[in-house]
Amino acid sequence: MVRPQTTLNNTPSEVGTMPIYCYRAEEEEKSCEHCREIFEVTQKMSDPSIENCPRCGAKIERIITSVYSYVDRGKDMMKDKNLKKMGFTKLVKEEKGKYRNVTQ
Ligand SMILES: [Zn+2]
Repeated sequence: MVRPQTTLNNTPSEVGTMPIYCYRAEEEEKSCEHCREIFEVTQKMSDPSIENCPRCGAKIERIITSVYSYVDRGKDMMKDKNLKKMGFTKLVKEEKGKYRNVTQ
């Protein structure tokens, strides 16, 4: 029996660390609905920065460059407030045998 080939092994390891660049149209009058608002582009470090909107070709400017965008979001997700929103209960150990519910 032949095991089905999986492409997972070929996934580049850099995927998780791909920086996200935020762009927005330089001039709102020349923008389309895609670039009027800030939009994110995931690029490799080695990729040149984008100068034009991929949809309408309007001149765009880079707003933020964050290599750790994914990581930061992950951290935010785990904040006590968000945990509560998601229905989790988080207990913080204060002393031996005593826990405090920080999501109350
Ligand atoms: Zn556009």
